[in-house]
Amino acid sequence: MTKASKLQNLKEKMEADDSLPLKKGDTNLVFGVGDPEAKILFIGEGPGYWENLKKEPFVGNAGKFLDQLLKSIGIARESVYITNVVHHRAPENRDPTDDEMRAYGYYLDEIVKIIDPEVIVTLGRYSMGKFLPTSKISTTHGKLFRVNWNDRELFVIPMYHPAAALRNGEVMRLEKEDFLRFPDALKKIAEEKKKKIPESEQMSLV
Ligand code: URA
Repeated sequence: MTKASKLQNLKEKMEADDSLPLKKGDTNLVFGVGDPEAKILFIGEGPGYWENLKKEPFVGNAGKFLDQLLKSIGIARESVYITNVVHHRAPENRDPTDDEMRAYGYYLDEIVKIIDPEVIVTLGRYSMGKFLPTSKISTTHGKLFRVNWNDRELFVIPMYHPAAALRNGEVMRLEKEDFLRFPDALKKIAEEKKKKIPESEQMSLV
């Protein structure tokens, strides 16, 4: 089965899952968008107003800024895959609760397994917390980590959430810098993959 059909099956399963805590009459499923064969997986927090309306992640102001950041390093939005920690809009765009993240976590885990990306870029602290639970975004943003997650080795780069960058000039400056360093991190991953390194729980590579 192709990755595209696996994702489609998972999406249908999710659409039929009435146990999802943020699923209400007027909320749409915002599953994910992009290339199922992508090497880069971006994970944000959760859909907002525009994402709910268009059923696509990162299409509002934060999404426009994300598009700009990708453009600054010559990466097409269509070539990556983008999803969120929760896949229905929370009331008033509030932060997701631990219970909600657990409920949607099964589906996010499946998306990660299907895409099987070379690198995961977490956008904001909620998605970072999934892979690097003890980290603080202020010290880890832009750094490359090798993470042992559910018995699979992942490369993870935590980045600030684009919406946080839009609210704070200093965060925006750091976010732009982190993205400009991202191509170097991709090269580093390619080098690391050639080496045989003993598995460790969590290792900062830069
Ligand atoms: N913020 C997110 O975290 N995800 C989206 O899809 C949009 C805004």
